[in-house]
Amino acid sequence: MPLYLPQLTRREFLKRAALAGAAVALAPQGHASLFGKARDKHVFAFFSDAHIASDPAQTYLRINMADQFAACAHELAAWPVKPAAVIVNGDLAFKFGLPEDYATFGRLLEPVRALAPIHLTLGNHDDREKFWQAFPRDATRLKTVPQRQASIFASDRANWFLLDSLDATNHTPGELGTAQLDWLARELAARPEKPAIVVCHHPLDITGLMGLKDSPALEELLVRHRQVKAFIFGHTHDWQVEQHPSGVQFINLPPTGYVFQAGRPSGWVRVTLARDGMEVELRSLDPKYPDHAQVRRLNWRPT
Ligand SMILES: [Zn+2]
Repeated sequence: MPLYLPQLTRREFLKRAALAGAAVALAPQGHASLFGKARDKHVFAFFSDAHIASDPAQTYLRINMADQFAACAHELAAWPVKPAAVIVNGDLAFKFGLPEDYATFGRLLEPVRALAPIHLTLGNHDDREKFWQAFPRDATRLKTVPQRQASIFASDRANWFLLDSLDATNHTPGELGTAQLDWLARELAARPEKPAIVVCHHPLDITGLMGLKDSPALEELLVRHRQVKAFIFGHTHDWQVEQHPSGVQFINLPPTGYVFQAGRPSGWVRVTLARDGMEVELRSLDPKYPDHAQVRRLNWRPT
């Protein structure tokens, strides 16, 4: 269950780049930017909806997804500090979660792995078994919820809960299932003090047709456990930040790949945790997008 890919050393990165041709993802002069920088333990980088096809030249809705992922990776490498971790929030593969998609995705991920450890969730265009098979030696095998990729990691100022909402490959809605919801309820109850941030590919959706089929059950947990401060998701390919009536901050990540609606941004998101909230910043691939590089401060609801 390769939810977590450890950071590569410079030596490992260069060796693997030479072997696998990973250097195509980043110009040679870019390698220097991957190493020797300080890490900020409060900074996290979010990528979502990469939709990488086996052929890096594949386009969809006139977008080359591999090029855009590489551009996001390149910008992250040029960031003044290294993030504590990078989270890639599902829809890693183009449509059907093919082994060849994951091979290409893995190559594009190499420069990112030189920067920071990576946590991955799965979306509705992924295939759990094929994904696990694609990263056999890198996998940290976690057995939390049977046949799911749910996990928790702690950072200085928050506990992060990563959910697995993949229900059926290439089928739009997602589902957490009773076992995973029970696990989340137990793990939240065991960690009442520190702010909790919940990450899931699918959003809440009252209709259950596009988002989570078990939205009411997750929403109840997010609202009831007062230490839950933010819910971060993708899937809609539509960047949004809003506050749920309960006070939980909802962050809808943009895709690194294509948007469904012309004029909406693609890119990645920088999150920096404070003691009582977070900063979020859209890093649009189109720097002319009005919300690009605008830093928003989101405050935590009272516990
Ligand atoms: Zn997607």
